[in-house]
Parts: sequence; structure tokens; C-alpha cells
Amino acid sequence: MAAEKEANEKTKGKKIDGGSVSRKFTTDSVHGHEYYDQKLGLFKVPIYMTAVWEQFDRNTGDPRRTDRDLDLKYSREENVTVNSLEKALSKLEKAEDALAFNSGMSALSTVYLATLKVNDTILISKESYGTTQQLANHMEKFGIKTVLAGPETGQLVESINKNVNLVIVETITNPLLKVIDVAAVAKRCSEVGSKLVVDNTFASPVLLKPQKHGAWLTLHSLTKYIGGHNDVIGGSVASDKGTIKDLWDWRRKLGNIMNPFEAFLIIRSLPTLKLRFTQQSETAKVLAEFLEDNSKVREVFYPGLNNSPYRSIADKIFSERMYGGVLSFKLKEGREGVFKFFKRTRIIKSSPSLGGTESLATSPFLSAASTMAPEVQRELGISEDLIRLSVGLEDAEDLKEDIEQAL
Ligand code: PLP
Repeated sequence: MAAEKEANEKTKGKKIDGGSVSRKFTTDSVHGHEYYDQKLGLFKVPIYMTAVWEQFDRNTGDPRRTDRDLDLKYSREENVTVNSLEKALSKLEKAEDALAFNSGMSALSTVYLATLKVNDTILISKESYGTTQQLANHMEKFGIKTVLAGPETGQLVESINKNVNLVIVETITNPLLKVIDVAAVAKRCSEVGSKLVVDNTFASPVLLKPQKHGAWLTLHSLTKYIGGHNDVIGGSVASDKGTIKDLWDWRRKLGNIMNPFEAFLIIRSLPTLKLRFTQQSETAKVLAEFLEDNSKVREVFYPGLNNSPYRSIADKIFSERMYGGVLSFKLKEGREGVFKFFKRTRIIKSSPSLGGTESLATSPFLSAASTMAPEVQRELGISEDLIRLSVGLEDAEDLKEDIEQAL
């Protein structure tokens, strides 16, 4: 009998680790996978490196089923390691179910394909991950229109009407870190019948569980805070059971399930998610305040700054008094200053990712936002002098020193 089924059968009635609705975030981040092999006393999730599972139980003749009540027979559909991650993610998101994909973009493309049909309209926040916008633009060849709106909450709410089928917003926008009132956007979506996807990558479930605020679906690039170590690519969605079943079927057909090794790495990252996120947020705030006082810096963007226009929304919707580990700043020296910074830093590396153990700095103008129309870049203020910094787990004093000498 497959381990997941066996474990759950044997522990029936005395669920050793079935979880409860009242468990706190950190407990779920450690035990939320629910894996327990009674025969071996094993409570760490193994890497089930197998393509196939014997479909029918030799004793009972019944098909093997996973807890999702789907056949366990082929790892493009269901895999016990991946299922364990999905159980933990659904608990952390306070969602009914979750699915893991081999990248954040893979999760998003599955949502597009599963949800949209000819003559539909996607509304995306102007200030969002460039590839999310590019992929939506490619949907035009299937007769699907994309409109950009926002990036402020009020502008988004005003633009959402009954002709919009799918809305995509990021909780904290990239790269200028505006906090969106997800509850207000969700309310508008439900009034007009639009489906709301919240890309919660920058906030992580530590700060916000969009399902609790009325979002239809929560999406993550697991590559970022949830994976957290800059060594794995992955994506996830969380939603109600019916939606997840539909997306599961698309994932089966598209063949983009996460591999068991990656799932293992992310399960290994979960217990430290809140610790890492808390430390990264703390250091980011210290660095944002430090940069504000530096004469080479023109402007600093961080929702945790006392004078940030997004501080009050953050304090209203985030479940913790934290503001994430990413900040942005503009240099008086412009583009040249940016390149000098990338050359001179000793600890911080130039790379467009975020949320991992190593601090990374990037030029949004040249990376994630490079494909935006120049007028949109100008309107948003994504200019050549902008640096986005993802704060890792290094010591704050060492990072200050690194930044100071690089500037
Ligand atoms: N969403 C956001 C906010 C991102 O920053 C990224 C990647 O940078 C993605 C989605 C895509 O995720 P992935 O790179 O894991 O495909």
C-alpha cells in the first residue's frame, strides 16, 4: 500500500499528525505535511523518486487513492512527496487545497489556460512581474484581451467591471513595494463577478493569507521566500477544492507538476519560513532607514518606513507588524551609479531573484520591468537609477558596511 494511504489508514481515529484548524502558523509550517509512516516511525517526508505506483492494492483489489481521493498511480498526477508539500501549503494559506508546480510561471500559465476562453479579459496591475504581463499579452492570439490598470488600490477597484473575467494583483508590488488592499479588490471582484488571483510572493503567507480576504486563488513563486534558499524553482496555487480539482486536471494534461526532489527541498524550508521572513523584514527596515540617511541616495521605497504612504494599508491587512525583505532605492548618480554598485558590493550579488538567504540586488529597469512600455515605466517611476534589494540572512551591520562602501 502506498505510504501516504498506509500512514493515514493506520493512524485512523488517532490521527497522529492530522493537524487541527486552531494550530498556529509555525506549528503548521513544521507538521502541516501530515506525513507519518507508522511502520517505520518516520515523520520526515521522504523523496518518493518514482514515476509509477502499483495501481491496485494486492490484498483488497481496490485502486490506491490519495487523500485528495484521486488515483495514486503515476507521478505526473499524484506523488506522495508533492502531496505532503501541498497539504502543508494549504494549511499555511488557510485554503481548502493547494497544488505545486515546477515554477511560478508554470502555475500562472495553468491558471490562464484553465480559466480563460475566447473574448475574455484579463486585468493586471500595471506594476507587476513583467513575465506575468508578457504571458497575458501572448493570450491575445487565443482571443483574450489584457488590460493594465492601477497600480494603486483605488485605481484597480475603479477599473474592475463586469467585462473583466480575471484580475491579477500582487500583494506588494514589484519593484516599488506598494501595498495593495487585497480585501477591497476582492470585494469589487465579487460585486462584478470577476475572479481574483493574488500573487502573494513578496508578502508570503506570513503576512497575508489572501483566501481569508476573499481572493479566488493565491499564487506563489515558491522560488522566493517559501523555498527561501536561492536553490530551487517552484510555484503553487491555493484555492477551494473545486477550483483545485479543475487545475489539477490541467496540470495532469500540461505535465507541469513539481518534481519530488524540489518538493522535498521546499518542505525542508517551511519550518524556517517565519523565522527567515521575520529576520529579513527586520534587516530590510534597518537598511531602508540607513539608506534614507545616505547622501548618495535620492529616494527609498519600503512600506515599513514611517513616512511610507503604504504603511497604513500594510498595518491594516498584514497579520504581523512586518513589511517584507525587499526594498528599493534610487541613486543620485543614475545608471552609472547602479553599475558601480553592482561591481563594488562584496556580499550583495547582482541577481533578479528575491526572498532567499543571500542578499541580491537588481536593476528592475534592465530586468523584470525591461519589457514594459516606456510610458508605463515613466508613469510608475521605474527608472535607470533604481536598485531593488532583496535582503538575505546576513548580519545587518555587515550589509550596511557593504552598501556604504559600494555607494
Ligand atoms: N510572481 C512574482 C511576483 C515573481 O517575482 C516571479 C519571479 O520572479 C514570478 C511570479 C514567477 O515565478 P518563477 O520564477 O518561480 O517562475
